[in-house]
Amino acid sequence: MKKNTIILIALLSFSSVAFVSCGEAEKKQEAPAEVATEHYQCPMKCTEEIKDKPGQCSVCGMELEKITKS
Ligand SMILES: [Zn+2]
Repeated sequence: MKKNTIILIALLSFSSVAFVSCGEAEKKQEAPAEVATEHYQCPMKCTEEIKDKPGQCSVCGMELEKITKS
């Protein structure tokens, strides 16, 4: 009984470590892809604010212009 418990704990900790490292690998793969995506900035550049989604400038209300970062 005691031996089984130890084996179970060992298995659980091993699988959780494998799960965590797998999740981190996925995050690392996603991060560079997001950097390369489009950014949106006010065409008047009244703020330094750059958004990752289309919308309107919070200062002048103009449509944000798509910018591509190299
Ligand atoms: Zn603006």
